[in-house]
Amino acid sequence: MKARYLIRFDDICPTMNWAIWEQVERVLCDHHVMPILAVVPDNRDPKLQVSLPRQDFWEWLRAKQQQGWTIGIHGYQHLYETKDAGLLGVNARSEFAGLPLERQCEKIARALAIFHQQDIHPKVFVAPAHSFDRNTLVALQANGIDVISDGFFWKPVRWLGITWVPQQMWQFRAMPFGIWTICYHHNRFAENDLRRFACDVTRFASKIISLDNATQSMDKDRDILDITFYWLWRQTLLLKRSMKNTARFWRRR
Ligand SMILES: [Zn+2]
Repeated sequence: MKARYLIRFDDICPTMNWAIWEQVERVLCDHHVMPILAVVPDNRDPKLQVSLPRQDFWEWLRAKQQQGWTIGIHGYQHLYETKDAGLLGVNARSEFAGLPLERQCEKIARALAIFHQQDIHPKVFVAPAHSFDRNTLVALQANGIDVISDGFFWKPVRWLGITWVPQQMWQFRAMPFGIWTICYHHNRFAENDLRRFACDVTRFASKIISLDNATQSMDKDRDILDITFYWLWRQTLLLKRSMKNTARFWRRR
């Protein structure tokens, strides 16, 4: 299997950074890329309030859905209620992990109700801060969502009754095989991030697929190779992060 890539944009909401987004959207459209838009349906997180709210947000989103872009549920209000790192164990903050099943079901149902009211039909769940637990997966299935965009596998797998389309990178990197999701947060894009994004999309355009493409051939439970790869990738990621934090600490002293 030759390497294929998916692009995901997180923190999509009416008050996101529209000035940057316009440029991002132009690059995506120029190369006919169908990204995953991870949308916060009722954002209450002040960090995601960057621009004045776009009045025709839902209309814009419906047009994207029509175009074939994938809409994801990026939580409900993007507010962290617990310090639980969940199944992935990478960030000790969560809107879901550690909460009782009923609370999680309620949040997912409320999020979906907002989308459905706007005639938007999300296909995939994208947990804020990558933090969710087994109850989140049960709550998603109870609400008709059986795909998540997360985990450090090298290709989509079935695990815990759900399809995991893995998300392992934050920048494009040429890989020999596998399916790789690159996650972007455009609210914080500087000029050079935008340039690099445009260059990478141009370079990898013919290898970028949609979520539907990624899940089509997927009917396999994770095996020992998947589990081993997941563990190695996660360890490497955590090591890199702690090295970066240590370097930052020494620079500040
Ligand atoms: Zn987010």
